[in-house]
Amino acid sequence: METTLRGVGVSHGVAIGEVRHMGTAVLEPPAKQIPADEAEREQGRARQAVEAVAADLVARGNLAGGEAQHVLEAQAMMAQDPELIADVDRRIAVGSTAERGVYDAFAAYRALLANAGEYLAGRVADLDDVRNRIVARLLGVPMPGVPDSDEPYVLIARDLAPADTALLDPTLVLGFVTEEGGPTSHSAILARALGVPAVVALPGAGEIAEGTVVAVDGSTGEIFVEPSQEKRAEMESASAARKAALSAVTGPGATSDGHKVPLLANVGGPGDVPAALEAGAEGVGLFRTEFLFLDDSKQAPSEEKQVEAYRAVLEAFPEGRVVVRVLDAGADKPLEFLTPADEPNPALGVRGLRSLLDHPDVLRTQLTALSRAAEGLPVYPEVMAPMVADRADAKAFADACREAGLQAKFGAMVEIPSAALRARSILQEVEFLSLGTNDLAQYTFAADRQVGAVSRLQDPWQPALLDLVALSAEAARAEGKSCGVCGEAASDPLLACVLTGLGVTSLSMGAASIPYVRATLAKHTLAQCERAASAARAADSADEARLAAQAVLSGE
Ligand code: PEP
Ligand code: MG
Repeated sequence: METTLRGVGVSHGVAIGEVRHMGTAVLEPPAKQIPADEAEREQGRARQAVEAVAADLVARGNLAGGEAQHVLEAQAMMAQDPELIADVDRRIAVGSTAERGVYDAFAAYRALLANAGEYLAGRVADLDDVRNRIVARLLGVPMPGVPDSDEPYVLIARDLAPADTALLDPTLVLGFVTEEGGPTSHSAILARALGVPAVVALPGAGEIAEGTVVAVDGSTGEIFVEPSQEKRAEMESASAARKAALSAVTGPGATSDGHKVPLLANVGGPGDVPAALEAGAEGVGLFRTEFLFLDDSKQAPSEEKQVEAYRAVLEAFPEGRVVVRVLDAGADKPLEFLTPADEPNPALGVRGLRSLLDHPDVLRTQLTALSRAAEGLPVYPEVMAPMVADRADAKAFADACREAGLQAKFGAMVEIPSAALRARSILQEVEFLSLGTNDLAQYTFAADRQVGAVSRLQDPWQPALLDLVALSAEAARAEGKSCGVCGEAASDPLLACVLTGLGVTSLSMGAASIPYVRATLAKHTLAQCERAASAARAADSADEARLAAQAVLSGE
């Protein structure tokens, strides 16, 4: 029977499909003893699970081809290693369950590999993956990590970390639902980057059974479990009508009376560029370079690799703005070689620009790579620092850019309330500001952006946050400089109008949101946006602010 659940909608659109859960780490199976007469049956169960996992790995290899096929076939051979299977049998014969026998036999083999030189030690992760697959199969729980599926699915997870997302196949994920996370969590950001509908902060989502059909409405935050045919048809036609209306509005971002507000894309690397171009992005307002650093958390990517990635993005927008943000590591994006392991409160610790100033070599390599990537291109790139707290931070960053010989516009992100409060002082050192409203909300309301329980305070409609946006935009106007928004606030079409009314000069967002923002902005004059902004700031809560702005913009 159809049931309805409600979370926070964070990425527009409708997704209908079967649920697959993101598997959590395989738990250690209990070390209980089985009676001797059950040993044979358990040994059979273990062998069956090994065979099934090996066959599955080979089948996946055949589908994938290339290098991946070799890796998967090698894993299938590991699973079927006769010595390992003999060890599992021995352990079951003396009283282990099948899952415990597999778990312990792999642990012994793992210890051997880990001590057998660098090459074999490098295979430990593959071995762990094979063990997890066999144990999960025996326990009847989902495979750990990204679901194994060749069919498109709706992904349900507790939350998604940037490292998980690197493994997702975007052609298979129809939509996301997460139990944790708020509108600014990485699950939300990733969903918008992929252009798939998403709902976050839905605590009951973990209980929806694997394989159940759900319909996700990323605008309203509703999930219909086992939707009726009528419901499915109704949602699909509403979504198609919305898409058709959107594609009718094209061109640069502007209000109905021609006040220009460039609409830029947030990208994580060259892979996001095609979607940005297709959405008609006028440039890139936030290139999150930390995604280049996720492959290897032990060292930075080489200067060469960085030059290649920066150049690919810069070349895609030869006449447009491209704002590259230097590495923002720490807190929710830790990197082993940069992030202190023992901070009691990483979000308030050495992250963002702070960690780059502690590791000037990493910053220098990034700036040199950017400088090389921009050689010969018709416009200078722009570069900005995350987590600027004060003028000293802004100066240290601008000095580092100059020392690296980088010809670019230097900017500062406003993500810490102190930076908004003293924006004019920061603007003495840099040429532009970019509001990172995700972190700005986190620090203004002392509300961790990864914690679903405080998502109310992460709502960018909070009037206190709007006040800080207004302060920053006014400071930039007084200094004759620009102030954009590149946090998730910019991707909410109604809020985009309010931000415009507050004096923000550009809006940067996941490519999939651009058509929604463009179409909404084009319906209102600058004066209406300004009135909506004043009404929202006069409210006492995020909900009231939203309603007040809505009333102004709909002419009530
Ligand atoms: C922000 O904090 O708003 C921002 C754009 O940076 P990130 O989401 O990458 O922390
Ligand atoms: Mg940030």
